[in-house]
Order: sequence, then structure tokens, then C-alpha cells
Amino acid sequence: MRRNFYSSEYLDRVSHLRNDSDWLSGQLSNGTSCLLPVWQLHNLVVSGDTVEAAVLDVSQIERLQTNHADPILLGLVDGVAYFTLDVSHIEDPHEHEVLGAAGMFEDLRKVGPYIGHEQGNLLAYARGINYWHQRHKYCGVCGAPTRSESAGHQRRCTDSECNSVHFPRTDVACIMLIYDEDRIILGKAPRFQGRMQSVLAGFLEPGETLEDCVAREVYEEVGVRVTDVEYQHSQPWPFPSSLMVGFRARALDTELTIDEKELLSAEWLSRAELKAITPESDVQLPRPDSIARRLIEEWLAED
Ligand SMILES: [Zn+2]
Repeated sequence: MRRNFYSSEYLDRVSHLRNDSDWLSGQLSNGTSCLLPVWQLHNLVVSGDTVEAAVLDVSQIERLQTNHADPILLGLVDGVAYFTLDVSHIEDPHEHEVLGAAGMFEDLRKVGPYIGHEQGNLLAYARGINYWHQRHKYCGVCGAPTRSESAGHQRRCTDSECNSVHFPRTDVACIMLIYDEDRIILGKAPRFQGRMQSVLAGFLEPGETLEDCVAREVYEEVGVRVTDVEYQHSQPWPFPSSLMVGFRARALDTELTIDEKELLSAEWLSRAELKAITPESDVQLPRPDSIARRLIEEWLAED
């Protein structure tokens, strides 16, 4: 099955090597490993007709004042190790001798649609794991500082009695195309920009199955009961730390009762109406790199 954007077909995460200090120090000094710096959750890219990741030689780490953060191993691509490093401590990275010459720090949410699939994955992964480190500098159990270990894939409390280990967190969100014969529900959340409308979505709660979450969110947001909840595919969405799990479900009710705290509006749209959308239309579909867009396009293609 086709992969969603921000996932990778080629990255080998080599989790069995994350605690192999000889292997790691070899990769950090071999002259061929690559570094993807992240500055205040922005990725370093080179923009032209397309956008590409700016990849530094890992030996540049020394010139990036590494006492502020440890390099994080992302994995291997074609046998080459990729690391990321948080350089947020640098006041103006575009004036920095290494970073300024390499590219510009951009928000992946903005440049994602213009970047290649595999690079999109690496940049999203780098951004997501740096976000987690930034937010977990202190132990949630006892409040003592934590330190990075396992090449950046866990943090351990520095209080020897507590010794708690914390793992990178991913927030699961369900996203669902709700259909009734030849039409689907699109809604407009307050955070959506411009005229964009999208399928419904919401976060999984403790003790819930994914199917429960789909049914609850749809009922809460538009007052519709659903059945035939079917998994479609999923997408990493590190903005800041989600996994979007895509579903399709059939509506049992057709009247929409909108929760105005969650949605500004929601409506049923037919295949003909969706296919007639132009850049001038009052309704615009979600961005092309999103699972929301793919859920809609796959349904449209089944006409
Ligand atoms: Zn602790």
C-alpha cells in the first residue's frame, strides 16, 4: 500500500545499535554520517524551485556547541547514519558560520508539501524527537533533571533513587471520513486557515479503542452515530507529536448537530460537489500532504 507523507520506506531505525557506544562513536566520527539540525522546531532546508533538507557533515557537531544537547540517532538510509541535534541555544542561526551557510530554518508545516517523501520523513522525525526532548528535561515523577540515553531514544531521571525512564511520546489521533451513500461530512475547525474544510478528527483517550474514539468524536462534534468503522492507513504528524490513524465509517444519522466549541460549521458534501471544487470555491480541501486529503481522494475515486 502507498505510504502516507512523513513516513519512510527506506529508513532503518537500527534500535539494536542505540546502546552500542563503540558503533555510535564510530558513526559520529567517520566523516560520512549526516546531521539534520533543528532550531526551535524549525528544520534546516535549502529552498529553490523545490525544497530540500540541508544535510550537514556530522563532523560539524563540534562547531555547534554540543554541550547544550546530545546528538540523536535517527537511523540509517542506504547504510549512512543520520543524526539530529537541537541547536536552539544559538541566538541567530542564520548568522552562524556553519548553519547560515547551509540553508534556512523553516517550519515543516509550511514547506512540507514542497519536499520529497523520504526527506519529509527524516525532517518530521527530527523535529518530533527534538520536541519531545525539549519538553522532558525534568522527570515527571520527582522533578529532578533527566538525561538523554540510548542515542536520544529515552531520558533517565538523574536522581539515583527515582531512576525513572521516560520514552518519546506519540499522541494518537483518529481521523475519519464519515459517509452516507454518495456524500461525506466536512467540517471547519476554528484553527483551519482560509476556506479549508476537512474530515473530522480527535484524540484518543485512555481506556478507549480506536473504534470507540471514532464513534465518540463524531457523536460529540456533529451528533451523528456511526457503524462499519474501518481502518484505512496512518500518518506520522509531528506537529507537534501525533500519529493520525485514518478510518472510514458509515453514518446512521443524517442530521448534523454541531458542537460549536469544536467546529465553526459542518456539512454534507456530495461527490459531485467535491469534484467541482476549484481554487475559487467557498470550500477548499486539506493540504496535499495530509491523510485527510488522501481519505477524501480515495473515496472520490470510488465513484
Ligand atoms: Zn525522577
